[in-house]
Amino acid sequence: MKFFSINGSKNIVDFRTAVLRGIADDGGLYMPTQIPRLSPGFIEALPSLTLQEIALGVISRFIDDIPKNDLQNIIEQAINFGAPLKVLSERLSILELFHGPTLAFKDFGARFLANALAYFNKDEDKELIILVATSGDTGSAVANSFYKIGGIKVGLLYPSGMVSKTQEKQLTTMGKNIHAFEIEGTFDDCQCLVKKAFLDSDIKKKFNLSSANSINIARLLPQSFYYFYSYGQLKKILNQEKPIFTVPSGNFGNLTAGLIASQMGLPVNRFIAAVNANAIFPHYLRTGEYKPKAAIKTISNAMDVGNPSNYARVVALYSNHLNRIRRNIFSDSATDNETLQTIQEIYASFSYIIDPHGAVGCCVLKKYIKSTKSSVHSIVLETAHPAKFAESVESALKIKVEIPSRLADCLGKQKRAIKISNQFEDFKLALLEAI
Ligand SMILES: *Cc1c(COP(=O)(O)O)cnc(C)c1O
Repeated sequence: MKFFSINGSKNIVDFRTAVLRGIADDGGLYMPTQIPRLSPGFIEALPSLTLQEIALGVISRFIDDIPKNDLQNIIEQAINFGAPLKVLSERLSILELFHGPTLAFKDFGARFLANALAYFNKDEDKELIILVATSGDTGSAVANSFYKIGGIKVGLLYPSGMVSKTQEKQLTTMGKNIHAFEIEGTFDDCQCLVKKAFLDSDIKKKFNLSSANSINIARLLPQSFYYFYSYGQLKKILNQEKPIFTVPSGNFGNLTAGLIASQMGLPVNRFIAAVNANAIFPHYLRTGEYKPKAAIKTISNAMDVGNPSNYARVVALYSNHLNRIRRNIFSDSATDNETLQTIQEIYASFSYIIDPHGAVGCCVLKKYIKSTKSSVHSIVLETAHPAKFAESVESALKIKVEIPSRLADCLGKQKRAIKISNQFEDFKLALLEAI
C-alpha cells in the first residue's frame, strides 16, 4: 500500500516515509491510495476475534513494508490493554477506550506510532524529534508512549491555562526525553507552530522531525481497530448488527478512522460526530461552508478545536460529495450545561459515570434520536476516564470519582515546562536550544 498527500502532489510514498515525515512536503496529510476491502469472512469472524487479532488483520492490509512478525510485535507492544464494550441498554452501549496507560483513547494511536517509529529508527544514528501540539490528552499519551525510547526525543506544545491541572501534570512531569513547551495561546496556535516547524529549513537541518498528532497516518489507522472490535462484541452480546457510532470529536481523527473502517466493509448505520461549542463541522454539514474559527474553551477541552485538521481527510474520503457525507454523518453540538446535565442523566439512568467528552456524545445522540426517531443501537465512544475530568464530573454528580493509580502517581510530581509566546521565532529559538 502506498500513501499520497491530499494536497494533490503526485508524490506517492511508502508507509515508512509517510510515518517518518508525518506531513507531506506540500503541507498535505497522507492518505492510503486506496481503502482495502476486508473479506466478508473477516467481518463474520469479528465476534470471535481478540482486539489484537483484529488489529493485525486490519493493519496488515495497509502496511507492506514491515514483515508480519514484526508487525505483530508492534501490535503486542502497543495495544497491550483492552477496549471493553459496556452495554447499558438495548439501544445504548459505551465503548471504553480509556484502559491504556494515560486513560484516554489516544493511547491506541500514540503507542502504535511510537512502536512503529522505534522500529523504523532502530538502524539510524540520527536523533528523531517528535513534535506534538496537544489540547490535553494527546500530549500525555504521546509522552508516555515515547518515554525512554532510545534515539527519540519529544517536544510537547500545549496552550497555557487551557488544559486541566491533571492533564498539565501528565504533560510536564515525565522528564528524560520528554520536553514540554507551555504556549501563551490557543491549541490552534500550538498546531500552527508545529506545522511551521515542519517547513522551517533551520530546524529541518538540525533534526529529523516527525509528528505524533492525529495527522500522522500511523496515529490514525490504529484508531479503526476498536470500531471492528466493538461491532463484534455488540453482535456477540446483543446479536445486533449495523450500529450507529457516536464519536466525540475535536480534530476528527477518531471519526476519520471510523469512516475508514466502514469503507473497509464494516457495517455501520450512521456516524454521529458530536462536538462541543466548537461547532465548525455541524455548520459545514448544514451550509456546505467550512468556516474555521478560534477555539472556544469548554469543559470537554480535548475537543476545543476551531480548525479540525482531519476535516480534509473526511472530505477526501467522500471525494468532496457533501450529500454523501450528509447521508453517512450526522453532526450537532452540546453546550457545557447540556454536557453536565447529560453526566447526571447517564448516572441516574444507568449508574454509569461518564466523562464530559463521552457526555457530549450521549447528548448529541439524544438530539439525533429525538429528531429522527431512530431506534438503532448506538455505540458511544468513551474517549477518556472520568477521573481525568474529576472537577466537572464531581460538580455534576456530587460524588467522589476514584482516581486510578496510574494517574495518581504523576499528580505528586513537579511541573517542568518552557513557557513562551505563540510567535514562531520564539518557539524556534526555544526548540533549537532546549532539545
Ligand atoms: C482528542 C480527544 C477527543 C477528540 O478526538 P479527535 O480525534 O481529535 O476528534 C475526544 N475526547 C478526548 C478525551 C480526547 O482526548
